Amino acid sequence: MYMTASPAWDGCCFDCAAPCAEDPWASVNHAVRLCIRCAGAHRALGVHISFVRSLQLDELSAAEMATMARGGNDRCREFLEAKGVPRRVWLALALPLRYQTPAADLYRRVLAAEAAGEEVPTEMRAVALPPPPVAPAPERRASWTPDREAASCELCRQSFWLLQRRHHCRRCGRCVCGACSPPESARPLPQRGHLQPVRHCILCVPKPARPIAGIG
Ligand SMILES: [Zn+2]
Ligand SMILES: [Zn+2]
Ligand SMILES: [Zn+2]
Repeated sequence: MYMTASPAWDGCCFDCAAPCAEDPWASVNHAVRLCIRCAGAHRALGVHISFVRSLQLDELSAAEMATMARGGNDRCREFLEAKGVPRRVWLALALPLRYQTPAADLYRRVLAAEAAGEEVPTEMRAVALPPPPVAPAPERRASWTPDREAASCELCRQSFWLLQRRHHCRRCGRCVCGACSPPESARPLPQRGHLQPVRHCILCVPKPARPIAGIG
């Protein structure tokens, strides 16, 4: 049983905002509350990504309870925002992709380091995506999303119109708005033959480190 009083927001699922105070679940290694539905989706990610526990039925270790108390939905949300994944982008991503972002990966490592009393990591790293399924789905990201397919930004879901122009991330091919692919995110992409900085979405370049001017 985990019964520490917690902020009101923690009565809601981190991933879908459904009320979950009645039947609280948690992703312990992200220290966030989940509803039972999202807990099931987390289980499918594998324990190396998300360690799921029922806060009502499972016995948490002292270390796990300490991590839950240090974390919380608010801290996770603020951390992700500070690392370039604002809430609107988080919610627009499919759940498995959310936890494959470099920002979520870093947060997992931060909480683990805190629990172990080790030096807290600060650098995001590229997250290895799981191997493709045996019967491969058509490779949607091999090419750009055709403009006519994308009625709205694939990250923030803002509709495109005359003054909300479409852009393409050169790395992942997503069709995104300007705010989701700002000039500061531009990077060279030598593996695609771009030696000069080219447009990247904020998922591929989560936190602009160095502004580069003059990218249209
Ligand atoms: Zn949920
Ligand atoms: Zn956008
Ligand atoms: Zn991208």
